[in-house]
Amino acid sequence: MKLLENKVVIITGASRGIGKSIAEECVRHGAKVAFTYISSDEKARALELELSSSGGVAKGFKSDASKFDQAQELVDKVVEEFGTVDVLVNNAGITRDTLLMRMTEEQWDEVISTNLKSAFNLTKAVLRPMLKAKSGSIINMSSVVGERGNAGQANYAASKAGLIGFTKSVALELGSRNIRCNAIAPGFIETEMTEAIDPKAVEEWRSSIPMKRGGTPNDIAQATLFLACDMSTYITGQTLHVNGGMYM
Ligand code: NAP
Repeated sequence: MKLLENKVVIITGASRGIGKSIAEECVRHGAKVAFTYISSDEKARALELELSSSGGVAKGFKSDASKFDQAQELVDKVVEEFGTVDVLVNNAGITRDTLLMRMTEEQWDEVISTNLKSAFNLTKAVLRPMLKAKSGSIINMSSVVGERGNAGQANYAASKAGLIGFTKSVALELGSRNIRCNAIAPGFIETEMTEAIDPKAVEEWRSSIPMKRGGTPNDIAQATLFLACDMSTYITGQTLHVNGGMYM
C-alpha cells in the first residue's frame, strides 16, 4: 500500500543521512519529493537520479534553509512545479560542538540559524499552500539532546529544544486549519554526522541503548512516513522519540 500517493513533500537537508532515507521512503510511497541541500551537488544529483530511475518524481534544490528569502523562493518553485505542498520535513541540521567556555558567537549563531530558524523560515513559506489546501503535515527533526541536554552541545541542544516549543505552538495555532505539526526526537542514529565521534564512545553509546544498537536512517524515515501520512491524522503537537529505548 502506498501511503503518500501524489502528495508533495519538501525535505530540507536530504543529500545524505536521515534526510536521504526520508526522501527514498517518501518516493517509495508515491510522493513527489522536493529536497534541499547546501553544498553536496554531486550527491544531490545522484539521489535525483536514483529516485527517478525507480520511477519516482524527485528534484533537488540547492537552498540554504537558514535564509528566510531562500525558503520562500524554494516553496514558490515547488508550488509552480508540483502544484502544492502537502508535507514539510524540517530536517536540515548541523553541529558545531565545543564546551561553552570555548564556544564562539559564530558557532552559536550558525547552529541556531541552521537548525531552528530554518524551521521558522520553511514553515512560514508553506503556510499559504497548506492553508489553501486546508491540510498539511509539518515534521521537525529534533533530538534526544533537545530534551536531555549534552555537555559540549549547548548550541545544538538549545536549537533542538527550541524546535519542540516551536512544534507545540504551530500545532496550537494551525490545528483548526487541519495542519498538523509534530517533532521527531532521534536518539543515536549512525550517519555522517556521528562519524566524527570517537569509535570508543560510539561503542559505549551502543551498549547503553536497551536495543543494543544505534538507529539507522531508515528507522527515522519510517517514523517520518507515519507522521506525514493519513495514518496519523489525529496526532499533532507531539514529539515521537525514536531511540531504541534510550533514557526511558
Ligand atoms: P548529516 O548526515 O550531517 O546531513 C545533514 C544534511 O543537512 C545534509 O543533506 C546537508 O547538506 C544538509 N544541510 C546542512 N546545512 C543546511 C542548510 N543550511 N540548508 C539546507 N541543507 C543543509 O545529518 P543527519 O545525521 O542525517 O541528521 C539529520 C537531522 O537529524 C539533523 O537535523 C540532525 O540534527 C538530526 N539528528 C540526527 C541524529 C543522529 O544521530 N545522526 C540524532 C538526532 C537528531 P550538504 O550535504 O549539502 O551539506
